[in-house]
Amino acid sequence: MRVFWVAFLLFLLAPGLGLAELRADSVERDYQRAAQDFYRLYRPGPFRERADNFLKTIAKFEAIAADHPGHKHAPQALYNNGKLYHSLYKWSHNDRYLDQAIQAYRKLVISYPQEKIADDAQFEIGLIFEEYKDQPSQASVEYQKVIDLFPKGDFAPIARKKLEQLGPPTQDLRLAAPSPQPPANPPPVVPPPPASALRPGDLTQARYGGLSEKEEQQKKKKSLVANVEYWSNSDWSRLVINVADPVRFKYQVLKEDKAQGKGRRMYLDLDKSFLPRKFKDRIAAEDGLIKQARIAQFDKDTVRVVLDLASLDRIRVYPFESPDQYKIIVDILGSEAIADSPGPAAETAPATPVATAPAPALPAKNGPLNGTAPSKADVEATTLSRALGLKVSRVILDPGHGGRDPGAMAFGLKEKDLVLELALELRKILQQKNPEVEVMMTRETDKFIPLEARTAFANKNQGDIFVSIHLNAHRKSSVSGIETYYLNLTTDAYALSLAAKENQTSLKSIRHLQGLLHDLMTHSKIQESTQLAKLIQDGAVNQARSSNRIQLRSLGVKQAPFFVLLGARMPSILVEAGFITNKTENDLLRDPKYRKILALGIYQGLFSYMDRT
Ligand SMILES: [Zn+2]
Repeated sequence: MRVFWVAFLLFLLAPGLGLAELRADSVERDYQRAAQDFYRLYRPGPFRERADNFLKTIAKFEAIAADHPGHKHAPQALYNNGKLYHSLYKWSHNDRYLDQAIQAYRKLVISYPQEKIADDAQFEIGLIFEEYKDQPSQASVEYQKVIDLFPKGDFAPIARKKLEQLGPPTQDLRLAAPSPQPPANPPPVVPPPPASALRPGDLTQARYGGLSEKEEQQKKKKSLVANVEYWSNSDWSRLVINVADPVRFKYQVLKEDKAQGKGRRMYLDLDKSFLPRKFKDRIAAEDGLIKQARIAQFDKDTVRVVLDLASLDRIRVYPFESPDQYKIIVDILGSEAIADSPGPAAETAPATPVATAPAPALPAKNGPLNGTAPSKADVEATTLSRALGLKVSRVILDPGHGGRDPGAMAFGLKEKDLVLELALELRKILQQKNPEVEVMMTRETDKFIPLEARTAFANKNQGDIFVSIHLNAHRKSSVSGIETYYLNLTTDAYALSLAAKENQTSLKSIRHLQGLLHDLMTHSKIQESTQLAKLIQDGAVNQARSSNRIQLRSLGVKQAPFFVLLGARMPSILVEAGFITNKTENDLLRDPKYRKILALGIYQGLFSYMDRT
């Protein structure tokens, strides 16, 4: 009522004002009130000690921005909310507020790009990713936007400085295909400097990853490079450098030098690291895409890896933190690689197998480089289905965990044992029912295999489908059911914590991985993987239900950043075939008959997929 009277009074005092002006005026008043609270929150006193005062002020600004987007104060209201959420985070350490701060700033940048404070907001987003979310690569992306969207703004030079420190945004490093005809005035041919002549710091197009510059400076000790593993075929390679703890790294692709008969070369520098003397300097030679791979102590602080490649179309370099080691993963696609298609319809399988290079010259046995690389498979073997041009001719089964990693455990059972039994059963069924399809397994015994080696095995052997089999666990024993996952970003807390568990990594590095996924996901086969996940989920659930009197729960098809699926070049899924922590499901899983039923269900899903495509 009082509001009405104030409005009425104003109307009397200013008879020339229309209704719109009156409303605008009340918005002005609301804004000034919110602004008063805003300033009180940043001055010492009891008012700022209460989180609800932050939230009430946020609600006031939010109402202005949402209900009066055309009002002159709407952009500032959004900006203030970005600040308030950020302060709330500092006060509570609740990650949700960081995301809400980013949301408010983003809304401002997108809705009011002409506003003076829009570039401030974009810069703030970069700062949050860099300093609070520990995502330097995403921070680079955001700082780059400051330069791209607001080249004349106050923050463009500061953003440039930031990018100098952090390195430019990491993304697919696409290299232009060599032009068929030489240009009219060819530039003088300058051979690329030999690897040893490249000094850290004077490279203009180098990219950075891993620790931020600040973290790197705070690091006291040098990191031990423990070993290097690689997998390779004619159009794809994965190289994994295992380091004792996190490092900052830099990499660059050098120009092709046809005159010297050299193909694509790249180097990767690990800062503040050292290589034990016993290390062999040659990692690989003449193996598929890799012509030669070498590693050496470049100077007292830097370990350098140099790769000579037969061809190169794309390269992705990213870190992954496992419980005992820090891994730098280099995924390389050759220019011969079959183009990744967006949908199933455009997919074709080669009628003839892809020729492979001669057997690799491996370093001496028992050397540190032997690692756990799977033996070279005979990819030239022509299976019947490949000759017929069928889409699915090779299925890769991946029983989770193994060896020193038992996976989930409950009621005396271990996940690693049950999933191996399940996978062996599934292989038997596939071999009986579809002898034209070849089945390969990442492990057939109780053996530890790192996650990145599993995907690598599938790629190296050019599998057409990748199925990772796991069992779930929950602290509440009442939780039960089957769920199937494909690789994607998620905001779901349950899916994130499950992925953290299966990745054997912290929630913090899962978030970091999510940040990287934006860039890494561009060529993954999401559509086909989703379809495969649905069919396997339905197959497993229906089979288990029809063969049992118990009511089995279907938890559905979900998405999460499972590291074991990252980089797979074929449709790939991860099935959580039940809860080992649920007594009823545990009893069922203990029974070989039930495992056979589950395997048959997964097979039926696989078969529907193969039948459709
Ligand atoms: Zn598992």
